[in-house]
Amino acid sequence: MAMYDKQYKFTNVVDMLLSNPLGRPESKPLCIDGVTGETITLNNLRHLVGAFHAGLRRFGLKQGDTICLYTPNNINMAPIYLGTMSAGITVSPANTSYVSTELEHQLRVSEAKILIAHPVNLDNALEAAAVVGIPRSNIFSIVRDPKQRAPCYRDVFIDFTQPELPPVKMTHDQSVNTVAYLCFSSGTTGRSKAVMTSHYNVISMVMELDNFIGIFSDPSEQKVSLAVIPLYHFSGISTFFNMGIPAGATTIFLDKYSIPAMCEAIQTFKITTLPAAPPILIHLVNRAEVDKYDLSSLESISSGSAPISPSVITRCAEKFNSFVYQGYGMTETTPIITIQSPENAKPDSIGSVIPCMMHKIIDSEGREVELGQPGELCVRGPNVMLGYKGDPEATANAIDKDNWLHTGDIVTKDKDGNLYIVDRIKELIKYKGFQVAPVELETVLIQCPFVADAGVIGIDDESQGTEVPLAYVTLPENLKGQESTLGSKIRAWVDERVANHKRLRGGVRFINEIPKSPAGKILRKNMKDIYKQQQKEL
Ligand code: AMP
Repeated sequence: MAMYDKQYKFTNVVDMLLSNPLGRPESKPLCIDGVTGETITLNNLRHLVGAFHAGLRRFGLKQGDTICLYTPNNINMAPIYLGTMSAGITVSPANTSYVSTELEHQLRVSEAKILIAHPVNLDNALEAAAVVGIPRSNIFSIVRDPKQRAPCYRDVFIDFTQPELPPVKMTHDQSVNTVAYLCFSSGTTGRSKAVMTSHYNVISMVMELDNFIGIFSDPSEQKVSLAVIPLYHFSGISTFFNMGIPAGATTIFLDKYSIPAMCEAIQTFKITTLPAAPPILIHLVNRAEVDKYDLSSLESISSGSAPISPSVITRCAEKFNSFVYQGYGMTETTPIITIQSPENAKPDSIGSVIPCMMHKIIDSEGREVELGQPGELCVRGPNVMLGYKGDPEATANAIDKDNWLHTGDIVTKDKDGNLYIVDRIKELIKYKGFQVAPVELETVLIQCPFVADAGVIGIDDESQGTEVPLAYVTLPENLKGQESTLGSKIRAWVDERVANHKRLRGGVRFINEIPKSPAGKILRKNMKDIYKQQQKEL
């Protein structure tokens, strides 16, 4: 039985998420810090959200402004995200491994007014904020900073002696147009862009999970979920905000992933639901240290964000006697597009398209392909983003005039409606589920004094079960002949200047000329063919 009314009566997503339609005990822990044990109940959360909303107003923020978060998973993200959206202000979470120049880009594009960072990220946060002109007085720490570089957000924004504010009321049109999240994604091409996800997008996704997929259907279940996927990525946001809160589950927050930390948390908190990504499933089935823990509480494990081998899914299901399934989606779709159901689960499939979305599979001429034939997946529905902030051209490239979002993923479909990913035509490289935009690495590479020109592609690293970026470079005339010493220097030069997940783990290779079209566009497909040929010759 669906718990939310099918009529879209909610317009501010926070009203929906805090509505507790099944009347779960408000004193039940909603999130627990897996390390410190600090707990927030639904009742606490309501007050913190109302107080934070009021605090943002006192500080002078208004509807339409944006705040940026730069923190590993932390339970304070619950009141901050919800209090911000409650005020009609936008949450823009940044990848915590960003170096300060990468954060600068996000601060500029999102036009963030304030920045809340974790002490581990504060130095970078202060550096980036200074460059883009965010005053130091607008930078806060999410927990008390031992070095006192910035005040704790709670000390400034949470004042229970002041009246709390309820979520702002919106009309349907305002809900459709008010941006709840600005997460970053490179989409099909170019550098990272700010994806405008509206309140309506999120509400429709939660309704979909409820009405059609029925994930909240059994009120008696005592679900305990683990938030180990970062909440700056939409799959992490989905874990807690789109699923955990509506399900009335208790979510355990882990600030970083390691096998012992994760297994310890599963054992201690008797985790039933583990939203994960391929590298985690690979560790669960392959690493001997996992067997030291009692993980028998696990009932379901999901994998998304990147391709996974079907054998890992099957082995994981057998080993943990759990329902192990895949979901597929994009930041641009809030984020789910397909999901597997227990009745119809094929380990090599990404499942079928969720019912609120229309889909078609097209060839390079835009014609729909025959059933079973590969083509680009295009989707349309209430969960598709408004567009990329400040970038109408990129928006028009992604969403065509008939409102179809072109995913850049090549899929096939079987007669039962299951989709299978067979290729990716967009530039995007996925390192363990994290986005790497080749153009960003190329921009860094051509600033390196040892590089004349560069092109980056993703290659498969079978041993780690992920793609990794590899750079082809040409040397300036005066350095030609020094290939044997310069490869590692170029790699080190780049790796120092980019986030961990963007490092050139695929290495640096030399080439006489970067293949380009007459218009100067890098022909990555040709580089991939060159790579394949080189591998054959090895
Ligand atoms: P992101 O916006 O970071 O979630 O990246 C979206 C892209 O990740 C998709 O367009 C796919 O290329 C890839 N992706 C997401 N989920 C899956 C999956 N289950 N299997 C294969 N690729 C996936």
